[in-house]
Amino acid sequence: MRSYRKELFFQVPTRRAYINITPQIEQCLAESGISDGLVLVNAMHITASVFINDDESGLHKDYDEWLERLAPHEPVSGYRHNVGEDNADAHMKRQIMGREVVVAVTDGRLDFGTWERIFYGEFDGRRKKRVLVKIIGE
Ligand code: ZN
Repeated sequence: MRSYRKELFFQVPTRRAYINITPQIEQCLAESGISDGLVLVNAMHITASVFINDDESGLHKDYDEWLERLAPHEPVSGYRHNVGEDNADAHMKRQIMGREVVVAVTDGRLDFGTWERIFYGEFDGRRKKRVLVKIIGE
C-alpha cells in the first residue's frame, strides 16, 4: 500500500468563504501516483469545514444565510465561548458543515457522483488555515 500526505493552506480576506478545492485535490492525487484507494480531506481547524456538494453560487449564498440563521455571528456577547474571542458562531457552523470528506479513488480519478465537488468552508477567516490531504491505496 502507498501513502501520500500534504497540507494545503488557505487565507481568505473575509470572515466566511466557500472555495472549490477539487482542482487542488486532483493535483494531490496526480502527485501521489495512486490509482485505486481512498482520499481523506479534512480541515485542521475547528472553525473551518471540508464538505462535498454542488458548485453553484446560489447554493453557497443559501448555505451562508442558513448558517447565519442557525448561528448568527452577532451579537457576539450572546455566546458563552466568546470570552476574549468572537468566533463561537464559527465553531457551530463548522460542526454543521462537517470536518472531513472521504472520496473513493478509481482508475486514478476521484470517483464522484455527477455534481459532487469538494469545498473548503471558512467561518473565521482572515488568517492562515490548513487542510490535510491523505491518500492511501496503490
Ligand atoms: Zn473559539
